[in-house]
Amino acid sequence: MNAMPAREQETHILLVEDDPADARLIEIYLEESGFGDWAIDRVQSIHEALDQLAEQDYAIVLLDLTLPDGTGPENIRRIKAEFPDQNVVVLTGFDERVFGLEAVQLGAQDFLVKGDYDENSLAKTLRFSIERQNFIRRLEETQKIARIGSWEFHPDSGRLILSDQVLYLTKPDDNEVKDDVPSAELNQLLRRIHKIALSGREINLDTRIKISGHGERYFHVQCRMTRTSTNQEIVQGILQDVTDRYQTEEMRKARDLARKSTEIREQFIASISHEMRTPMNAIMGLSNVILTGDGVQGEQKQMVQAIRDASDILLGIVNDILDFSAIQAGKIQFREEPFSLRSVCRNLEQILGTKVKDKDLGWKMHIEDQVPDQLIGDKLRMSQILFNLLGNAIKFTEKGQVGLYIELKDRNAEKVELRFRIEDTGIGIPEESQQSIFEDFNRVKYQHKTYEGTGLGLAITRQLVELQQGQIWLESHVGVGTTFYVDLGFAVEPKLTNGHVVNDVLKSSEGAFRGTILVVEDHKMNQLVARKTLERQWPEVQILMAENGQIGLDMLERHHVDLVLMDLQMPVMDGYQATSLIRRHHQARIRQLPVLAMTANAYVSQDPQLHEKGFTDFVLKPFEPEHLFARILQYAPLKAIRL
Ligand code: ADP
Repeated sequence: MNAMPAREQETHILLVEDDPADARLIEIYLEESGFGDWAIDRVQSIHEALDQLAEQDYAIVLLDLTLPDGTGPENIRRIKAEFPDQNVVVLTGFDERVFGLEAVQLGAQDFLVKGDYDENSLAKTLRFSIERQNFIRRLEETQKIARIGSWEFHPDSGRLILSDQVLYLTKPDDNEVKDDVPSAELNQLLRRIHKIALSGREINLDTRIKISGHGERYFHVQCRMTRTSTNQEIVQGILQDVTDRYQTEEMRKARDLARKSTEIREQFIASISHEMRTPMNAIMGLSNVILTGDGVQGEQKQMVQAIRDASDILLGIVNDILDFSAIQAGKIQFREEPFSLRSVCRNLEQILGTKVKDKDLGWKMHIEDQVPDQLIGDKLRMSQILFNLLGNAIKFTEKGQVGLYIELKDRNAEKVELRFRIEDTGIGIPEESQQSIFEDFNRVKYQHKTYEGTGLGLAITRQLVELQQGQIWLESHVGVGTTFYVDLGFAVEPKLTNGHVVNDVLKSSEGAFRGTILVVEDHKMNQLVARKTLERQWPEVQILMAENGQIGLDMLERHHVDLVLMDLQMPVMDGYQATSLIRRHHQARIRQLPVLAMTANAYVSQDPQLHEKGFTDFVLKPFEPEHLFARILQYAPLKAIRL
């Protein structure tokens, strides 16, 4: 925009006048009026005026409407076409005053009728035109910043006057469209709202207009009908582009919605997990109980075995889906707790032992001597990683052997870096699939055999490794075998949880429990599973059963108990409350009891309450019997164990 001269500065006027007498009169009037400092350049045609305006800035153009190269309103149209912001005051002959009005409608600030003005009205008109032009420029600038345009609709003549901003804001990104023609969409909108406005209603709405090349834009539209002094109706309105505000708002809404749906999904998965695990606990637990007894033989035994194997697979799938969604939601947290590496590996060996035996495979496990046993980290996640990889190794190997090797890669005072190697002599993985198998739901297709699985195992494993800043990779040859490598770091300074001494000297499979276990559990089916599972394993075990936390606490006061298995959700008093009361009990023998949470909640390891309330550890339902036994032997007082 041109900088307008301040009042004390010289006002540059371009006088477009072919009649020397008229030109002279203007100069005389200006001198007499005390208009201030001014300078006049005079030209005699539109053509020259346009050239001059291209050269220099003028505060005012005084334009005669009768020139050798143009007459009437056409003159102002030509100037405005090239210099739309130029301040123009027109001079008309006495008989042409109607031209003056038209010129104003075409953008002139004002008009003077020759012979009908004196020095004062000339000075006033010129001064006002400058002020008005300044004001309009400031207003336009503000409107530009606020992205507001204005319009006027004259229903009598059907004339629609749109400000430049309206045209600019709604202009399609299309060179074919003329600058001063409103887009079809805008036209339609304005026509619609004018009708409403004319009925006397004020309009205040937000709307969308599709603008070619700019997509959908949001506009705030406001307008109302007013009347001129001659009682003519005019609809006046503004239109503001509020797309940015809308988009921020829509983004916020989308973000809220996404957050909400993630929450709902998590809740859904957590509750489904709970709902599925409870009956699965019964199926798996009771089929285990049946299988360890002498009651079933032959075909029936095989059938029960099949039930157990199928529920094993089902549980694996449930767990995979849960883990996968937890990882996706960024919900996985890793515990920092001391554990014995060798005892975790022996547990794994036991759990997988039956599968290895069933397939008649060889098994090898070797942990280098210099690998420390006491590590700090998340043993559950470490087991899960190894379990997945060893599980696959067994699944995809028909003959030969499967092995787990652990070596020390690096060590300093606080940390060790271990390399786990999981080797098999199985079918191998074709080279082209070796990278993609780490992706979600990716599986290799085989011609002759199908293997069950979701294709999530390795994706989860890789995430679990990488979230702990570890690395995983593989080497494989089709028909020869596969080796997975996992590098993981662990802290080494030993700390004990909840003051409980961990019986790591004990091999989990060794030792029989012969003390008393209090099972606090409201669910009859789960009570039966726990009782049967424990009694089958350890004939000397004493089981006390309480159906809620309150009854459990009463029993602890009346009986000698060595370890508590505590369900979390129970009526009357839940497991959290009961455990925190145990930890605050006045009798030390009760206060110090190992309390293992029993839960079907797959996200239990992220439950801060477990630690806060003083649980020693937890077992996940449905429990693998071996896990349950190992956990009990791990925390029970030595005197309750027969070695
Ligand atoms: P799945 O649940 O299908 O086993 P994974 O993510 O654990 O899913 O494994 C993906 C695919 O990688 C498997 O379907 C299999 O084709 C291949 N795979 C994984 N481990 C091995 C292995 N040790 N030997 C051969 N193929 C393997």
